[in-house]
Amino acid sequence: MTTDWHIDPGLIEQYENGTLVPSRVMAVEAHMLSCAACRALIPAEDAWLDDSWSAVYDELHAPRVGPVARLLTRAGLPGHRLRLLTATPALRWSWVLATSAVLTLAVAAAWFGREGSQAIGQAFLALAPILPVIAVSGAYGPPADPMHEITGTTPAAGPGLVLWRAVSVIGVAVVMAGVAAVLLPGPGWYAAAWLLPALLLSTGTLALATSLTLPVAAVVLGALWLTGVLVVARTAEGLFVSSVFGPTAQLAYLLAAAVFAAVLITRRRRFDLGESR
Ligand SMILES: [Zn+2]
Repeated sequence: MTTDWHIDPGLIEQYENGTLVPSRVMAVEAHMLSCAACRALIPAEDAWLDDSWSAVYDELHAPRVGPVARLLTRAGLPGHRLRLLTATPALRWSWVLATSAVLTLAVAAAWFGREGSQAIGQAFLALAPILPVIAVSGAYGPPADPMHEITGTTPAAGPGLVLWRAVSVIGVAVVMAGVAAVLLPGPGWYAAAWLLPALLLSTGTLALATSLTLPVAAVVLGALWLTGVLVVARTAEGLFVSSVFGPTAQLAYLLAAAVFAAVLITRRRRFDLGESR
């Protein structure tokens, strides 16, 4: 490289101000590496260097904010809550992807299977309410959350956080199952028929979690629901949908969910979080 050419003062000024385009910054810096005269033109005072370093540091260490987090912030959720919510194990991409895959398969099977599409629609109705329960079981606590040792020591840990996380995972699960339900062939009301059972099972799991750990509560209620559904399917074959998802049943689910919600509210301080106390 020839040393006859040097960076002109205008360029140096832009470089100092940080207004130079990246490609020219690279050219300027490449020249400076081999030219002490041009290097000397830059005021390498401590303050200037410190500023530059802290700008680089901030850029590298700034937490990445995803679209969902940005939306929640705009909706008024405080930052510290957001951090604890987005660390919810059940909201990891792996969980969301696995659930989407299962739902997509169910919808595809119902559309392309034809013959069995009615059976698939009914199976979907029976299984969709369990989705939020599975999500809740992984929302908090040692077995599901490898970060729990750290989360558990934060001042925000405990019943409040369990509820926040439960509501967020139930919300995500319900939206995902809802999209699948709308895409399924079959009577239009199928798309909403599983919502009250889902509400019942979710509040039930949380109410039960005031005596049992979350995963155990989820397994107990999930198993009870499945057993009930299977028994009805066996005994009342043709009337399966109307007896499990008909108006009377829906009203019963709503009432039971209200009872569970009342239990949950009165006992919320007693969440068994599986911690040694
Ligand atoms: Zn030079």
